[in-house]
Amino acid sequence: MASYYNEHTVLWLNGEIVKASEAKMDLYSQSLHYGYSVFEGIRSYRNINGETKIFKAKEHYERLEQSARLMNMPYKWSVEELTAANYEVLKRNNIQDAYIRPVVYAPANMSFAKNNESFIAIQAWEMQPFLGDKLLRIKTSSYQRPNPKGFNIQAKAGGHYVNSILASQEAKAAGYDEALLTDLNGYVAEGPGANVFYEKDGCLFTPSLGNILPGITRATVLELCKELNVPVKETLFSLDEMKEADAAFFCGTAAEVIGWESLDDIKFKKDWNSSLSKQIQTAYKERVTEKPLTKQKQKSPKEAVA
Ligand code: PMP
Repeated sequence: MASYYNEHTVLWLNGEIVKASEAKMDLYSQSLHYGYSVFEGIRSYRNINGETKIFKAKEHYERLEQSARLMNMPYKWSVEELTAANYEVLKRNNIQDAYIRPVVYAPANMSFAKNNESFIAIQAWEMQPFLGDKLLRIKTSSYQRPNPKGFNIQAKAGGHYVNSILASQEAKAAGYDEALLTDLNGYVAEGPGANVFYEKDGCLFTPSLGNILPGITRATVLELCKELNVPVKETLFSLDEMKEADAAFFCGTAAEVIGWESLDDIKFKKDWNSSLSKQIQTAYKERVTEKPLTKQKQKSPKEAVA
């Protein structure tokens, strides 16, 4: 297992900086027993000027609050307070390229009743920016994403991740890198911890919102497509459509933009390095480190026809 902290590591716990090795939570917490917690996954990067920058901190802390509200959890923190606390955790641990995990959890409560307070921790550990050179072998999961009528799936709630764990472990046990899950109607939905796009005939496609977590990276990819004039469509599609694609990728805060080699052993048609998807991957790396975007050289009309 990865090592997330050592005896020097600190975290932010309910307004105070404390040592990770000394931080305590209540074993009677409703969050531990029932998965009733909400969390975020955030990245910080050393930018091109050498500064530490949390990528889309506002969007992540707004989603944390939204998740808590959807789960009826009391929530009293502002985006500004948590962003400042987050920078403090990075500074005190002397890390720039990091994965950051804020988690909001419930007090001791073995019943299902609403609580009158919540607690919060912000943890961070070093994570180098991903180079994304390896392509993933993906397997369609036998598990579907949770039914949106059974869960508030737009919330990033702890309990929802039991589904992610089952799907990911199943795919890995079968020798694949990761799982792809469908929604309750059999349409392509998302990965255990990432949204999905495919590329076909010069256009990108991604599942529309409704049965997926509205990813902040997904939104960034949509912004990048606009800036780079890459056509993109949000729509429902089947696994069979996806298997006909030229290229495909997962995107998420931790995964960043990571290309696929195959889905259920069917290889994608295009060489990753000549795909539009690869251009998006490069643009994403530039965006998170605050580099100006590399605009691809426009093809001459003759080349474009060929
Ligand atoms: N879907 C699921 C199920 C996830 O857990 C994540 C990771 N948070 C994503 C999509 C991607 O979301 P984001 O880009 O906001 O990290």
